[in-house]
Amino acid sequence: MAIDRRDFLKVAGLTTVIGLTGGGLELLRPGDLDASAPGHEPAAAPGAKQWGMLVDMSRKENWQACIEACHNLHNVPSIDDKKEEIKWIWQAPFQEVFPGSESAYMSDVMKARQFMVLCNHCAEPACVRVCPTKATFKRPEDGIVMMDMHRCIGCRFCMAGCPYGARSFNWREPRLDALTLKGGRKINLEYPTRERGVVEKCTFCAERVDEGKQPACVEATRNGGLVFGDLNDPHSEIRQLLRVKSTIRRKPEVGTNPSIFYVV
Ligand code: SF4
Ligand code: SF4
Repeated sequence: MAIDRRDFLKVAGLTTVIGLTGGGLELLRPGDLDASAPGHEPAAAPGAKQWGMLVDMSRKENWQACIEACHNLHNVPSIDDKKEEIKWIWQAPFQEVFPGSESAYMSDVMKARQFMVLCNHCAEPACVRVCPTKATFKRPEDGIVMMDMHRCIGCRFCMAGCPYGARSFNWREPRLDALTLKGGRKINLEYPTRERGVVEKCTFCAERVDEGKQPACVEATRNGGLVFGDLNDPHSEIRQLLRVKSTIRRKPEVGTNPSIFYVV
């Protein structure tokens, strides 16, 4: 796709900011999604939606508020032990989020920045391919990758298959943890708690999306840091933003076609 001088300068600026080496990083230029470059195009049945999200790290947001909105709504317990923690949306540094893309020339600001991470709701989800019971599946109507807790047998193949560490295993009885939520948190009686021995992860707030609402994390933003929308709709806000912003996605080389795009 041809890019004009302004677009070129934006791409060049991004390259300078994070010191890209070209290694493991896929840089999507403004409008690449329109051009349906191989590997960028949303994969879905005709007429289906493909929900996606733009994470704009250049926006000033209270990212912790986004995490709390999600975890409070979904009764995600607070567990200090990293080996047993449950997380649906969290923060991690650049080298963890985009491994292999850092360079010796990366700015200190970029090295220190914490990026928001959640399930990518991949168009080609590796987790779905390896699940032996179909407990994890992609909704054909909108591409949300879901969990059926009743079908999950706790084999954790999906955790091994996900290249992004987006899944958590309930080592403990989560209901007890939910009932002892820290910092005055209260259990949300309208959202089901899980069993010990099952895997869980972000659902793109499917229960809210089905009611025409935005995901809770998006609703918690104040300055457009998270934009949720249909990647298959060329008129959606997210597609319009992808037309003018340069973005990157996580681990493009693994071929999962993530639906989360980052402005860094
Ligand atoms: S990020 Fe991981 S858990 Fe989420 S859809 Fe992709 S492969 Fe599955
Ligand atoms: S989309 Fe919903 S479930 Fe996913 S991280 Fe945001 S608030 Fe949590």
